[in-house]
Amino acid sequence: MKNKRYEINCPYCGKVQYACLSILHTWGIADGGRGKCLGCKKIMTLVFDYEAGTMIAKMAENKNGQTI
Ligand SMILES: [Zn+2]
Repeated sequence: MKNKRYEINCPYCGKVQYACLSILHTWGIADGGRGKCLGCKKIMTLVFDYEAGTMIAKMAENKNGQTI
């Protein structure tokens, strides 16, 4: 499962793209992924669902919980 690519949808523009597990994902940290949309270039938080084996892209938030 380590090198598998997961389909994600950009939460900003909806572009479909693919992401791999991050190091943090392999450590069991579900929201440990970060990615940059290939379309709109915005930063996404990649959340891995260990039970379903799927990746979900969410809008990234800064320390104050604001969407960036
Ligand atoms: Zn996008």
